[in-house]
Amino acid sequence: MRLLTLLAPVALCATLFVQGSRAESPDALPSLERFSPDQIDKSLDPCSDFFQYACGKWMKANPIPPDQSGSGTFDKLVVWNVAAVRNTLEEAAKASNRTPLEQQVGDYYASCVDEAAVDKAGIKPLQPELDRIARMESKSQLPEIIASIHQMIRPANLNFIDAQYQGILFGLYSSPDFDNAQVTLAALDQSGMGLPGREFYLNDDDKSKRIRDLYLKHIAKMFELTGEPQTQAAADAQSVLAMETTLAKAAMDIVSRRDPRNLNHKMSLDQVQALTPSFSWSHYFAAMQVPASPQYLVLAPDFFRGIQELISAEPIEHWRAYLRYSTLTFMAPSLSEPFVKENFDFFGRQLLGAKEIQPRWRRCSVDADADLGEAVGQAYAAKYFPPEDKERMLQMVKAIETALHQDIDAASWMSPGTKELAHAKLAAQIDKIAYPDRWRDYSSVVIKRDDFFGNVARSAHFEINRRLAKVGKPADRQEWGMTPPTVNAYEDAQTNTINFPAGILQPPFFDAKEIDAVNYGAIGMVIGHEITHGFDDQGRKFDANGNLKDWWTAADAANYEERDKCIQDEYTQDVSEAGVKQNGKLSAGEDTADNGGIHLTLAALQNTLKSQGKDLDTPAPDGLTEVQNFFLAFANIWCGENRPEAARTLVMTQGHSLNRYRVNNVVANLPEFAHAFGCHAGQPMVHANSCRVW
Ligand SMILES: [Zn+2]
Repeated sequence: MRLLTLLAPVALCATLFVQGSRAESPDALPSLERFSPDQIDKSLDPCSDFFQYACGKWMKANPIPPDQSGSGTFDKLVVWNVAAVRNTLEEAAKASNRTPLEQQVGDYYASCVDEAAVDKAGIKPLQPELDRIARMESKSQLPEIIASIHQMIRPANLNFIDAQYQGILFGLYSSPDFDNAQVTLAALDQSGMGLPGREFYLNDDDKSKRIRDLYLKHIAKMFELTGEPQTQAAADAQSVLAMETTLAKAAMDIVSRRDPRNLNHKMSLDQVQALTPSFSWSHYFAAMQVPASPQYLVLAPDFFRGIQELISAEPIEHWRAYLRYSTLTFMAPSLSEPFVKENFDFFGRQLLGAKEIQPRWRRCSVDADADLGEAVGQAYAAKYFPPEDKERMLQMVKAIETALHQDIDAASWMSPGTKELAHAKLAAQIDKIAYPDRWRDYSSVVIKRDDFFGNVARSAHFEINRRLAKVGKPADRQEWGMTPPTVNAYEDAQTNTINFPAGILQPPFFDAKEIDAVNYGAIGMVIGHEITHGFDDQGRKFDANGNLKDWWTAADAANYEERDKCIQDEYTQDVSEAGVKQNGKLSAGEDTADNGGIHLTLAALQNTLKSQGKDLDTPAPDGLTEVQNFFLAFANIWCGENRPEAARTLVMTQGHSLNRYRVNNVVANLPEFAHAFGCHAGQPMVHANSCRVW
């Protein structure tokens, strides 16, 4: 499944360098951030810079901690969830008479926090794989060797706006057939670039060159840590960077990847083989135990032609260096301290700007969630998610879906036939809240209390095989692509689902104690965002059944694109805090979801207030109007900022606008905002040419 998320996947499941503070005591949970109108900076004018008005005080009081690349109310909830996961794991690690599930998650965690044992093992656990690469005598052995590595590294989370699959050389996963979502295919995708995307290799500005210099030094250091002499390590690093640059040149650019029609290349095994004649795909697929299939989905055929060039041109010692480094970098977080530290120094410090690494217990909690997510999540949800919250969430989701049905009906730019199909698509969407009805069965994964590296590798092996076993089978719409403690949400066009993990159903997003205006402004905006993804410039290309099928008349599509272009132009803007220009074509889907989301949840709030005999201007108990509370609660979920390194990486490699723009650009498009705060034409928070898709 390809996820369209609420935010860049820096949340619990996605990366080692999860953001968070380490100030809290080891067993207590940090306090949750709750909405408060006291956070307003009354010395400022909301019509000049609403983000600063709503968030300036919060940001001043919450500077970015040294082990983080950013800080925000969002991140505070991540911190809370990581601590909740840690409590769950520690209990499972200590308990007697444990259930099999407690044994697995408890022993996984215990093996990870035993830093002395991990340090003592050094590189030993990875040595057999490195030896196997060193023994490679012929490039004809590549398929088996790469399969062996692919069976060991943690499979990536799939995001529709990623520049590449996070993996080694290329990515293999299962994916619904674009033309028939009922059928699961084996998919081959571009991957293997150690830097976040192709622009990092190909751009010529000073900052890009500096990052490449630092990357080269990092690769050499990783080699030196395995015992390579310095000169050899430096030469090998050059080979690795040269090979990755060839991959970058062959890769599809990130904006083209946003259009699913550019990714839909179905091929027979012979056709796949013709792309890369020197790489035996039948050997590779056999080693990966991919069920035989009449068709394979090749997302970027040119990339696989690039791999053929690499096999033809590069001598075997360069291949050994590339595979050695790539394997090391993926497994570094599971190795001893020198590898962990060097890996952090480049990816955490240089690319994201963090000053120090997270404490080990935090990294271990994140790893456990990444490797045994639904086992960890089952224990976590039982302890931390009140079941009654699910009902209130579902009511809000239904109210916001009703608002989109009304919006479709009211759209003067759509014809009746297209409207009917839009209604049908929305009606067919499945709303998933908190956690799966059926939990994943991890009973075949062997978890040992004294073998952290082995636990990580065996979990990865289980997960890659679980995914590939789906090839040839129908899609499971009830499956989740995020774990329960994740602070994020997603829409998946091919299963036509929207998904809200338990992790985000806490303050400041969802607060059972708060008034409707606050909940609609915060979690309601998240719900509206995900619903809108089904109808943004990517989502609208999929029909009610999740198939890539054009259900729009030519005139309706042209109207859509005109509205979409307004958003693209508006967000093609200088982002001074990142030192780069934002590409509105890259962020169009997310920006459309942000703008549509707020509009839909505001309409749902209006309907709800009406049923209570109130309207948007009715004073709330705190003295502000209902609608002022709504907009402040909306801004509140985005309070926060990134370090410049992280801001740059985020703007370049993924489609979400930075927080400031997720607030200011959105409110400046909304007449209801101007009304709420008495803003008038000519002020910065009132766009003369306001954009609206939904
Ligand atoms: Zn999104």
